[in-house]
Amino acid sequence: MIIVVKPGANDSQVHEILDVLERNELKAHVSEGSERLIIGVIGDKSRLTPGSLEVLSGVEKIVPIMESYKLASRQFRPEGTSFNVKDVTFGGNELVMMAGPCAVESEEQVEAVASKMVACGVKVLRGGAYKPRTSPYAFQGLEKTGLKILRRVADKYGLLVISEITSENDIEYASNYLDIIQIGARNAQNFRLLSAVGKSGIPVMLKRGIAETIDEWLGSAEYIMSEGNYHIMMCERGIRTFETATRSTLDISAVPVLKGKTHLPIIVDPSHAAGKAAYVQPLALAAIAAGADGLIVEVHPDPKHALSDAAQQLTPEAYAELAMRVKEMATIVKRSYPGA
Ligand code: PEP
Ligand code: MN
Repeated sequence: MIIVVKPGANDSQVHEILDVLERNELKAHVSEGSERLIIGVIGDKSRLTPGSLEVLSGVEKIVPIMESYKLASRQFRPEGTSFNVKDVTFGGNELVMMAGPCAVESEEQVEAVASKMVACGVKVLRGGAYKPRTSPYAFQGLEKTGLKILRRVADKYGLLVISEITSENDIEYASNYLDIIQIGARNAQNFRLLSAVGKSGIPVMLKRGIAETIDEWLGSAEYIMSEGNYHIMMCERGIRTFETATRSTLDISAVPVLKGKTHLPIIVDPSHAAGKAAYVQPLALAAIAAGADGLIVEVHPDPKHALSDAAQQLTPEAYAELAMRVKEMATIVKRSYPGA
């Protein structure tokens, strides 16, 4: 359930509510919106004496939440969430553009992409250091060396770093190098990893599992939020369907559905959905038209020779064209584009 606090309630009225929750061993998650203070309550509500919250002078109303996710639900923050990572705002009016290679292969490779991306409005550099590959014999990523390369190049161009973490054992080390942890589709329901990432407090981009329903995906977000980490973006990256023409089927309807169900910012990854470079731009435009708050796109200086996901990576030139089109689309949907 959530407790909507009366507008203008003072600190002691709020503390009175928090005290009742604490006495009943219920966990309070406080969301301070622009107009309202909302308290998300997690735990066994049957402990509460009926009416014990309703009588408090600071309580405006108590709303039960039927979904299995509570903190991720729109009701917890009706006005939507936006948050900053350094100087970049996620979930604001300005779109956030993230780009970079599928995997970090060398410093020269990352440099060749990043140097061209800054002029296109990119604020976040992506690159896999720990690669979750289908085959154990495929390139597994440069791991620690990869993270160091990303950080060095990102610092040179004033970019943030996003990179995937596949094991809770790597979080502490990686936190020295990255700004945003990516949870990949294959780990979207690795609940111990989600809880660990929640405890770390590092901002997270949570990809949708390959066969995860939207409600299950929000359950994954709840694992992170229930540990007190509210800096999460949801990333639609396509789901497995009977269709084989694309690598995955981009569920474009997930964007408006999520807008209704959650307050969290929404990112779309057209690259992994498409699986083919030619489809990336149209899917990117569709995502912005549908209301996505940003994009994450794979870009490689020489896609044909990429060590992973060669077919779907864009050249920097193709990315520049995508960025131009996205900027036009941003105007139509009344969003601003970085640098414009
Ligand atoms: C990635 O973005 O590098 C990746 C592996 O994507 P996904 O988890 O969506 O397959
Ligand atoms: Mn990839």
